[in-house]
Amino acid sequence: METPLTPAEPMLWSGWGDPAKAAELPAPVRDLLAGLLGVRAPATPGATFGEVRLPQVALPAPVLAALAEIVGDEHVRADDDARIRHTRGKSTPDLLLMRAGDGSDAPDAVVLPGSHDEVAAVLRLCAEQRVAVVPFGGGTSVVGGLAAARRGFAGVVALDLARLNRLVSVDPVSMVAELEPGLRAPQAEQLLTAHGLTLGHFPQSYEYATLGGFAAARSSGQASAGYGRFDDMVVGMTVATPRGTLEIGRAPRSAAGPDLRQVFLGSEGAFGVITSLRLRVRRAPDVTAYEGWRFATFAEGTAALRRLAQQEGPPPTVLRLSDETETMVGLAKPTDLGEAGRDSGCLLVAGFEGSPGDVAYRRDRAAAVLVEAGGVHLGPEPGEKWAQGRFSAPYLRDSLLAAGATVETLETACFWSNLPRLYDAVRLALLGALGSPLVMCHVSHVYATGASLYFTVVTAQTGDPLGQWATAKRAANEAIVQAGGTISHHHGVGRDHREAYAAEIGDLGGEILRGIKERLDPAGILNPGVLIP
Ligand SMILES: Cc1cc2nc3c(=O)[nH]c(=O)nc-3n(C[C@H](O)[C@H](O)[C@H](O)COP(=O)(O)OP(=O)(O)OC[C@H]3O[C@@H](n4cnc5c(N)ncnc54)[C@H](O)[C@@H]3O)c2cc1C
Repeated sequence: METPLTPAEPMLWSGWGDPAKAAELPAPVRDLLAGLLGVRAPATPGATFGEVRLPQVALPAPVLAALAEIVGDEHVRADDDARIRHTRGKSTPDLLLMRAGDGSDAPDAVVLPGSHDEVAAVLRLCAEQRVAVVPFGGGTSVVGGLAAARRGFAGVVALDLARLNRLVSVDPVSMVAELEPGLRAPQAEQLLTAHGLTLGHFPQSYEYATLGGFAAARSSGQASAGYGRFDDMVVGMTVATPRGTLEIGRAPRSAAGPDLRQVFLGSEGAFGVITSLRLRVRRAPDVTAYEGWRFATFAEGTAALRRLAQQEGPPPTVLRLSDETETMVGLAKPTDLGEAGRDSGCLLVAGFEGSPGDVAYRRDRAAAVLVEAGGVHLGPEPGEKWAQGRFSAPYLRDSLLAAGATVETLETACFWSNLPRLYDAVRLALLGALGSPLVMCHVSHVYATGASLYFTVVTAQTGDPLGQWATAKRAANEAIVQAGGTISHHHGVGRDHREAYAAEIGDLGGEILRGIKERLDPAGILNPGVLIP
């Protein structure tokens, strides 16, 4: 058993990440926001920590005492600090609510188990006492995956898995590592690096999200073209449910019936608590190389991505194509791409990680495809700039919110043949719902048969930013469903996508999920209100 050298520092309660890394908006950007989008400073500043309104702790003292008996006194916390830091996730509506001092979704207590057996005992106790349990990883959900419905329960506890943070074993022959779910991604990488290994999972929430959250919400990282999605990395897991324990996965693939791993991947804490993960690992790369390419249009760029995804042999590790608007906004000087005064086109970032020979081979192969597809090589600078800033956008969101802009993201996926239709439908829905927002999009997860679309929206806040975004999100969801996209490629379902998910899987699909839930969690204590239609 190995534990991380670096502790998991708490995240800013009302925003993203390490408060010391807060990004100030430069004055020209503020002027641009005011001129272009009509952004004005909000009438009231964000609430302070002390101003957050919390509901009374509803859990009876004997239940708190019984929980403490299982995990130890110091690992049951009902203080304001712990409750506020475990209130909801990190979507823009979540942040707007916290900035307004609304702590109404706070759990009554935070419980920190230290082992699988403690998790199992907590679930048994909570089922007996009808206490809702919200499994809590890094708290970075952006789909309302951490706000349990209270009604009908004696109270709500956040089951924070931070103490389950060990590298249990490494099997270098099979290239499989067993890791606990509460490890944040950088901690897991640190432990694996000591063995010359990597997971290769780098979502934008990398600094704070945990392995359990990645599995439970089917995460996909920025290097998914090369390393795959997180759910593809999971070869086995241990799950605690109120009905008992499941050990799943004894071979990479199996013909022994339906694959039960798939029942828990994406189950968002509604079926059980993942207490251990067996993950496929890779050798840590010796070399990394990122570079930029320019395409005249998004359509030309997506055609190039498709050709890369469909070619024989290993693809680049990172592929990310920005549409015209995202390209323009992302450039320090809009003339960096193309000639001055002309459309900046679309930026594609291609990244390669591996041994020197492998990187050189894949780079040459990709270059041949990209040139043939109309791409212009821009050299390493745009790629390196992207790599340096790859985890900084969430900090910018906090500054934009404070300045009076609403900024939020949403994502979907479909087959290649439908991608242009889906892109147009979502863009139009957002433009129609918000007046004249900035709508940007990129493709960063590609498959032989299709890809995901990731939209970022910036608009001036109205007096009711929550209502404003709810309208836009509803319009986007309807457009996604009607245009044949999936309601989520990697953020998950949570509460926010439940309705659209129900439409996507149909009545019978919903019945199957309810059947599984009833079997594993008859008292319905696990994350009520999340995922299950
Ligand atoms: C700024 C930002 C950028 C993001 N970028 C990406 C991205 O690039 N790619 C991506 O895929 N996602 C991204 N996300 C979404 C989010 O980070 C992912 O969904 C991530 O998988 C959540 O991990 P977490 O540890 O924070 O889980 P949490 O938010 O704590 O939990 C997520 C869900 O899983 C459940 N859960 C957590 N742990 C367990 C467990 N051990 N057992 C059972 N259920 C559990 C929770 O109850 C909840 O329903 C981003 C989010 C933010 C805020």
